[in-house]
Amino acid sequence: MDEITPEFLQEMKDKLAAERDRIISLAMKTRKEEMVLDQDDLPDEMDLASSEYNQAIAFRLRGREKHLLSKIEEALGRIETGVYGYCEVCEEPIGDARLRARPVATYCISCKEEQERREKDYS
Ligand SMILES: [Zn+2]
Repeated sequence: MDEITPEFLQEMKDKLAAERDRIISLAMKTRKEEMVLDQDDLPDEMDLASSEYNQAIAFRLRGREKHLLSKIEEALGRIETGVYGYCEVCEEPIGDARLRARPVATYCISCKEEQERREKDYS
């Protein structure tokens, strides 16, 4: 059985914090580009369409980033409360390899597969 060591928790904490910083700086960069766009002269019809399109993409990205960011915050919170690395369903350790690949995972691989199978049955 996998033991979750303080060293491993620290490693995951660093990884999650780095990912959080990356998302935040990316979101700030997107916002800066939008500000530059706003300062342009009134665009003609075609430019307007493409800038609306770009804004739609930026908005969607932010939605996805926001979702990931909240997952990261949750994971960091679980590290603080000492429940990080354990499956939410069966409470077994999720495993180092799976957590390294997906630090925000809250299900072990077998519970995840079970959940995906159920989702498939419903659709
Ligand atoms: Zn499980």
